[in-house]
Amino acid sequence: MKKYHLLRERVASAGICRHDDLQPAAAATDEDILRVHAPDYFERLRRGDLSTNEMRRIGFPWSPRLVERTRHAAGATLAAVGAARTEGVGINLGGGTHHAFPDYGQGYCILNDVAIGLRAHQARGRIETAVVIDGDAHQGNGTAAIFSGDPSVFTFSIHGRSSFPFHKVPGDLDIALDEGTGDDVYLEKFTDGLARALATGPFDMAVFLAGADPHHSDRFGCLALTRTGLARRDRLVLNACGRHGLPLAIVMSGGYANDIFETVAVHFETVRLAAAMAASWHADGSEPAAAKSGVRNAFKAR
Ligand SMILES: [Zn+2]
Repeated sequence: MKKYHLLRERVASAGICRHDDLQPAAAATDEDILRVHAPDYFERLRRGDLSTNEMRRIGFPWSPRLVERTRHAAGATLAAVGAARTEGVGINLGGGTHHAFPDYGQGYCILNDVAIGLRAHQARGRIETAVVIDGDAHQGNGTAAIFSGDPSVFTFSIHGRSSFPFHKVPGDLDIALDEGTGDDVYLEKFTDGLARALATGPFDMAVFLAGADPHHSDRFGCLALTRTGLARRDRLVLNACGRHGLPLAIVMSGGYANDIFETVAVHFETVRLAAAMAASWHADGSEPAAAKSGVRNAFKAR
């Protein structure tokens, strides 16, 4: 999608991280993917054997390139989780495909990158617990389903009540907002939800889906936040993770404004704030517990 290309260009030209911080990620391996997804679904996805209905539900036409792209997007979140652990903050300049279930995709989501990234690091013994903070305008139904009954990962989603998905899968904490909810009410509810989610910890790390689609100009979100409101949301997450010493992986998730530069501006601000936070942690030696050194903080799906 064009917004990812524009975002990467903007991050690269803004000088907010070192050139070698901005790295293409390896594709998620079959083993990583199969910790989350059903073998039959993944095999048919790879071969191009999903039915017309299954592809329609996903919303993209099948191509070998689509499969590669989604594997790399999942690999980038896996890398961002790793970077968060070692360096405090890790970012995937894409990802956040939270409508993907183990055995089907939906709403432009094919593989659940956040679940793949967390399960991979759990399997390698690098983390045990995590909290998912889903700020996309749509409920994280696939992620909620995957981690349902799994006490090691707490799922928090704040979203529009009347938006897709119309059948919501309860996560550990869901906050549904009325259509047209603006900055003040949103931030009050978000602050409360974030505090409640973090109070159920401690966690080894956090993953933040920093959706740009709560923005008032978004075509698919039904909320009405301003750019300033979304930046305040991002700061709430960054500051809370700083206070709790929580390594933080950030993925971009949705954003579909008619003016693509509006969406890119929201995502860019998320990256800029996170890079500034990582740099300040590094400067005063207060990185989250697992962090060591460096400010490597941006990963991109090929
Ligand atoms: Zn969304």
